Amino acid sequence: MPGMLGAKERWVATGSVAALLVGMVVGEVLHKNGAQGVVGAFSVAGDLMLVRPLMMLVLPLIFTSVVAGITSLGDPSRLGKLGLATSAYFLGSMLVAATLGASLVTLVGPGFGLSPDDVAALTKSGIERFEAAPKLSQAVAAGEQGLGAAWLQIARQMLPANPFAAMAEGQPLGMIVFAIVLGIAMALCGDACDSAMRVLNGLNEALLRAVGWVMWIVPVGAFLLVASSVGRVGLRELLGPLGMYMAVVIGGLVVHMFVILPALQFVLGGGNPFRFMWRMREALATAFATASSSATLPVTIRVCETEGGCSRRATRFCAPLGATLNMDGTALYEAVAVVFLFQLYGVQLSMGELAVVVATATLAAVGAAGIPSAGLVTMVIVITAVNASLGSEKLPVGAMGIVIGVDRLLDMCRTTVNVWGDMGAARVMTRLAPDE
Ligand code: ASP
Repeated sequence: MPGMLGAKERWVATGSVAALLVGMVVGEVLHKNGAQGVVGAFSVAGDLMLVRPLMMLVLPLIFTSVVAGITSLGDPSRLGKLGLATSAYFLGSMLVAATLGASLVTLVGPGFGLSPDDVAALTKSGIERFEAAPKLSQAVAAGEQGLGAAWLQIARQMLPANPFAAMAEGQPLGMIVFAIVLGIAMALCGDACDSAMRVLNGLNEALLRAVGWVMWIVPVGAFLLVASSVGRVGLRELLGPLGMYMAVVIGGLVVHMFVILPALQFVLGGGNPFRFMWRMREALATAFATASSSATLPVTIRVCETEGGCSRRATRFCAPLGATLNMDGTALYEAVAVVFLFQLYGVQLSMGELAVVVATATLAAVGAAGIPSAGLVTMVIVITAVNASLGSEKLPVGAMGIVIGVDRLLDMCRTTVNVWGDMGAARVMTRLAPDE
């Protein structure tokens, strides 16, 4: 029953929130004392204890959940309605998030308030950082091919020539599409597919049970990961020259998480969104600690269906798709980061260019994978589009390096908002697709 927790579950749920707070304090102490060896050990232990076990389960879980969810919908026209409503919800909430980010950063102007010395130091170290990150340079080469190429890449991912290769490469989007097609076909097959459905449903139940075991480790894993992330950079960054930029990102995320999304949930889904948020705390804590929507997905599905009281049908459709496509926090972050970088380079963007930022930040968020720093990589799409609309390269893409150093903390915050957006969608769509 929703909201009814046993003593053990309560310990896991409360422990994961406490782990975040204690993890931050311990991380800061480790940073101040220069204990980078311990920080490294925490990071390895957190990865082995929490991230890898969750990642191990996530792809088979996506596959079985989506097939089971779609077959349980039965009638393909119901799937059509659910698909349309979910896509509209995802797109609408991401556009709102990107607009909020672009408005806040324009109003506050964190890139204009810095001294020329600070700007010179930031740009120099930023470009150096960027050049030292070969993965980013490769992403730039891909992203600079323009918006058409970005759409094409998403379309290719959605229609993989080989779903098993997509799975092996850890690209969930293609697998979700494959699972949807298979689910519809199985639903239409009727009795002939009964045993296949039973096998997939059984596998799904078994995987969710395994997720329950991993959830025992969430408090410890979250503590280790948060302590290591904070230990690496230290909270002092929040007071440095990038402090105002970080404050705008975090402020925007807070408004989106605690005002806009709850309002949307309340209007479209009813009930008390904050009670729902509290029930979802294990997933939110996991998102914050791992900075990965994909790694969090097993926990998201489990808590939505148990404490959250969302229908299985809505959860199994919205959560896997959301973890891959719906990223409100990333859309907001990309908008703030790009406008901030233009400000640092002395460019005040007009309304038209801000509209380009909002549209491309949403596309960049859709295209970002649910893994750490993915949003940083797809930011190049936004920078390239704004430069094109300005008619010259006012901001070199290498300037992205300026925000790399403080990315992890912001990534933890935006991933939490990403996952909260997915859970909200599952809650709202439960109205449309209740379990019978
Ligand atoms: N880490 C984010 C996520 O997994 C994506 C991003 O980098 O913005 O949701």
